[in-house]
Amino acid sequence: VLDRTLLYPEGGGQPADHGTLERAGQEFAVVDVQKSGDAVLHKLNQPGLQKGDRVTGKVDMRRRLAHARHHTATHLVHDSAKRILGRHVWQAGAQKSEERARLDISHYRRITEAELKAIELEANRRVMELTAVDTQFLPREEAEKLFGFELYQGGVPPGKQIRVVRVGTDIEACAGTHVTNTGMIGAIKILRTERIQDGVERIEFAAGEAAVRAVQERDDLLAGASGVLRVPAEQLPRTAEGVFEEWKGQAKEIERLKEELARARLRSLAAEAKEWDGLKIVVQRMGKADIDELLKAAALLAEQDCTVLLGSETGKLVAAVGKSGLEKGLKAGAIIKAAAKALGGGGGGRPELAQGGGPNAERLEEALAAGREAMRA
Ligand SMILES: [Zn+2]
Repeated sequence: VLDRTLLYPEGGGQPADHGTLERAGQEFAVVDVQKSGDAVLHKLNQPGLQKGDRVTGKVDMRRRLAHARHHTATHLVHDSAKRILGRHVWQAGAQKSEERARLDISHYRRITEAELKAIELEANRRVMELTAVDTQFLPREEAEKLFGFELYQGGVPPGKQIRVVRVGTDIEACAGTHVTNTGMIGAIKILRTERIQDGVERIEFAAGEAAVRAVQERDDLLAGASGVLRVPAEQLPRTAEGVFEEWKGQAKEIERLKEELARARLRSLAAEAKEWDGLKIVVQRMGKADIDELLKAAALLAEQDCTVLLGSETGKLVAAVGKSGLEKGLKAGAIIKAAAKALGGGGGGRPELAQGGGPNAERLEEALAAGREAMRA
C-alpha cells in the first residue's frame, strides 16, 4: 500500500496497470493492482519492501496505452452504435484488454452486417476528427443537471464528486484511463458480434496496434486459403464455390457407386446361394455394416427368393425369407431369435423380415450357425 499511486487498479471493465516500484536501485515488478475500500493494493513479484520505504513507481506505458485506447474506443463505438441503431441503445457491460475490447449493448434484434459496418466507419471517423478527450470532476448534482442520467452508462459511481469523461457527444461518468485525443486511438476494427442474451448484443473490437494486428491476422487467413486454392484472394469466393459444388457432385457420385457395388455383391451372393431342400440359402458376415445396410441387402436377396441371415461385426442381425421359404412355413422372426440368443440378445419382426442383435458380437459365427440350423427346422 502506498500513500499515493499512479497505477490504475482493476475496475470498470478495465484490467489493472502493471509497472515497477523501485527502492534504492532494487526493482519490484507490480503484477496486479486492486482496490480495497479506500486503499489501493499493489501485488509484487517478490517480498522485501518494508513499512516506511520510499519507492519510485513506474507504469508499464505500453500496457496502459493499449488499455486506454480500447477504453476511449469503447466510448466511441458505444456512441456510434447509438447514432446508427437508435437512442434506445444502452451499455449493458464492457471489458477491455490489451488486445481486445467488448461492449454489450441493449438492442432488440441482431445487428446486421450493414449496421455493423456503419458503426465501425462512424467510430473511425470520430477518431479522425481528433477530438480532445475532456475529463473533469464535478459535483454529482451539477453533473446530472448538465448531462442527465445517460452519464451512468457504465454504472453509477459512488461519492459526491464524480469524474465526467467527455469524448465529443459522448459524456459518461467514468473512472477509467483514457487517451487525451481520439487521434491517439488509431484504427478501430470491429471483429464480431454475438447475441449473449435476449435483447443484448456483444460487439468485439480491437483498437490501435491491436487493430492492425487483427487485420494482419485476417490477411494471413486469406493468404492461407489463397495458397491452398492457388488463386489470388479476390477470386477466393468464386473458386471456393466451384470447389464446393464439385465436391458435392463427387460425394453424390460416390454414393451412387457404393450402391451399385453393394448391388453387384448381392447379385453374386444370390448366385452363390447354397441350395438346400429346394431353398436358396444365404448366411453371410457383412463386416461392420449398419442396420440399414443389412435391412436393404436382406430385402433385395429375399426378392430373389433367397432365405437370408446377415450379421454385422457390431452385433446386429437381419433375417429375411423369400417366397419359397414362406410357403414352407419359415419365419424370419424365428431365425433371428435363434441367432440373437447366441449373441446374448433377442429380436423379432414379420415372417418375411426380422431384425435383432446382442452384446456378444464376438460370437457372430456361432449366431450365424444357430440361424442356419433354424432355417432347417
Ligand atoms: Zn469509460
